[in-house]
Amino acid sequence: MKQRIQQLQHDSLAALHHAASLKDLQAVRVQVLGKKGSLTDIMKGMRDLSAEDRPLVGSLVNVFKDTFEGVYASRLSFLEDQEISARLSREAIDVTLPGRRSVRGSLHPVTLVTDDIVDIFSRLGFSVEEGPEIEKDFYNFEALNIPKDHPARDMQDTFYINDDLVLRTHTSPVQIRTMLKQPPPIRIIAPGTVYRRDSDLTHSPMFHQIEGFLVDERVTFGDLKGILTHFLNEYFGAGLQVRFRPSFFPFTEPSAEVDIACVICGGSGCRVCGGTGWLEILGCGMIDPEVFTAVNYDAKKYSGFAFGMGLERIAMLKYGVSDLRLFFENDLRFLKQFS
Ligand SMILES: [Zn+2]
Repeated sequence: MKQRIQQLQHDSLAALHHAASLKDLQAVRVQVLGKKGSLTDIMKGMRDLSAEDRPLVGSLVNVFKDTFEGVYASRLSFLEDQEISARLSREAIDVTLPGRRSVRGSLHPVTLVTDDIVDIFSRLGFSVEEGPEIEKDFYNFEALNIPKDHPARDMQDTFYINDDLVLRTHTSPVQIRTMLKQPPPIRIIAPGTVYRRDSDLTHSPMFHQIEGFLVDERVTFGDLKGILTHFLNEYFGAGLQVRFRPSFFPFTEPSAEVDIACVICGGSGCRVCGGTGWLEILGCGMIDPEVFTAVNYDAKKYSGFAFGMGLERIAMLKYGVSDLRLFFENDLRFLKQFS
């Protein structure tokens, strides 16, 4: 019995020393002191010993137990320390490593164009006004001198919600809403989303326009020409050639289409300008007296001009983009080029 205890003590202390992890250490403890452990087994066998042998074996068992617990405790704290320092070195932060940059977004090219144009007109005393995208027939057509049977309604492929509501086909209803709200003088720039049933390389069913208009006493076509020429030179570069061509819009009279010398070929003719050397850039004109009547302005006292342009078209020319649909596909490879 004595030998068995000594052998067990020797083996189990060695096992404690060799335990390489907290898990192994715990397993040794269970093997020796657990319910079915080897020492537990010996203690159970003590009841069969003679009265003289029992105290001797009892004291041997106690010494073994104390020694085992002592070695176990020191091994436990050693392994715990080891585990902590391993974890610390695993989780250490190397401050010399280069940082991970967060991904920075950028403004959409149409937003960039809008901001630049608003900026130029703000310096000329224009303020920004906005209107709803679901618009009443009255604001989108009727008040802009486009009655129900007017052929000009065919110029714009309209999304109708019902007989009275449309997705606005242009930003011009903002003119009407503003003029009904306040008397002249007025200088407004109105950027926004507009909708038409149209989709190809240069048209999208949803696109952006910016509308500008000015109403005051004695406003002339000369003022319109001066302001737009100034704007186009500011935006596309000084010395840019600009020309005004007669055109037709129901809400302006006279009306004009404005061209700039092709920004791609400089006027010598290329694919973008169709060989003409000119690019159509915006429509404009003197506000039709009929429009003033619709908003109860005195058409004899006041005059004014209005202009509008497509922002995607400006962005295509400014950044050399050949397909308008790129603006709406949300392809990061395209959008990142504008950051
Ligand atoms: Zn050209």
